[in-house]
Amino acid sequence: MSTTPTPAIQLVGLHKAFGSGEHEVVAVESVDLSIEAGEFFSLLGPSGSGKTTVLRMIAGFETPTSGAVLLAGRDVTHSAPYDRDVNTVFQDYALFPHMTVLQNVEYGLKVKRVSKAQRRQRAIEALENVRLAEYGRRKPSQLSGGQRQRVALARALVNRPKVLLLDEPLGALDLKLREEMQVELKAIQRDVGITFVFVTHDQGEALSMSNRVAVFNHGRIEQVGTPREIYDHPTTGFVAGFVGTSNVLSAELSAELLGAAKAHSLRPERIRIVDKPATGEISVAGIVSDVQYLGADSRVRVDLADGSHLLANVPSDGLVGVAIGGSVRLAWSRAAASTVAESEPDSEDPNQIGGNQ
Ligand code: ADP
Ligand code: MG
Repeated sequence: MSTTPTPAIQLVGLHKAFGSGEHEVVAVESVDLSIEAGEFFSLLGPSGSGKTTVLRMIAGFETPTSGAVLLAGRDVTHSAPYDRDVNTVFQDYALFPHMTVLQNVEYGLKVKRVSKAQRRQRAIEALENVRLAEYGRRKPSQLSGGQRQRVALARALVNRPKVLLLDEPLGALDLKLREEMQVELKAIQRDVGITFVFVTHDQGEALSMSNRVAVFNHGRIEQVGTPREIYDHPTTGFVAGFVGTSNVLSAELSAELLGAAKAHSLRPERIRIVDKPATGEISVAGIVSDVQYLGADSRVRVDLADGSHLLANVPSDGLVGVAIGGSVRLAWSRAAASTVAESEPDSEDPNQIGGNQ
């Protein structure tokens, strides 16, 4: 008989409204989610989609209006934050400037009255976890932004929580540092084996770091899956547009081109510019309205007869004969387009908030 391990976190019918009457704001709606022990799990979505509120309900800083939070099978919905085996790392971490790095990491244990010898040993271990063993005597002002963020992480790890919650922890770092920290953070998580729940509005960050991702829109989860599943098979128009760049073909256009009257998503890199489509390929003609050079690839925008347009990523050295105003033929394999459900339109354009690379 096989037994399923108890999930590290279970969210059951989670609902959170702020205010009441006409001022009520529903921040989180009908969220059901199971996160396995040891997973690097990301909550991805645009600003205002409810990610932080979900994280705060897991941490215990916020009480759900209805629904339940279970940690390792235990219902903690009404437990205080200190009575939960979780720790949170925020974006605007505050280190004590007058203390050394080691003292900063030890501080929480001191408050908990852990003996001096023990807390020194655990702090050193936590600094080793974040690869800052050599920096214990420095003051925070003598560290780079990325190193300070790792001290903040060590301060959480020193408590040895089962679950670490991270709310946009890399948001304050510049791009290059952020990319380095993404690699570091993933490696640290693998080493310590703790469940990480990572909040971000950056789809690239979520895809590159996570075992699984939940995509949020308007307080609801639109899709849960591995980065690959989410990217290759977005199940809603919102996910298709928010994660990477995608063409969403309307039901009418799909009926005409694909013979199925349902909206479809089609990634730009799956579309080729051809003289003649191969057997079995779907094909449509249009007028080139823009060519955007991206390096090895270029993104070509092609206007179609029905007033819509398609984006195609093609190798830049294959652009011979492609000119703005000229006509081209696009082709893709039948399997490249997948059906998507209609999403609630977002108040913010997903492509403006990290939805594009
Ligand atoms: P995200 O982290 O995805 O940006 P949040 O969880 O912070 O989203 O917010 C979700 C929604 O709930 C937003 O509309 C936000 O304005 C609202 N909200 C969050 N916290 C509060 C609060 N304490 N009082 C009133 N509204 C809130
Ligand atoms: Mg937030």
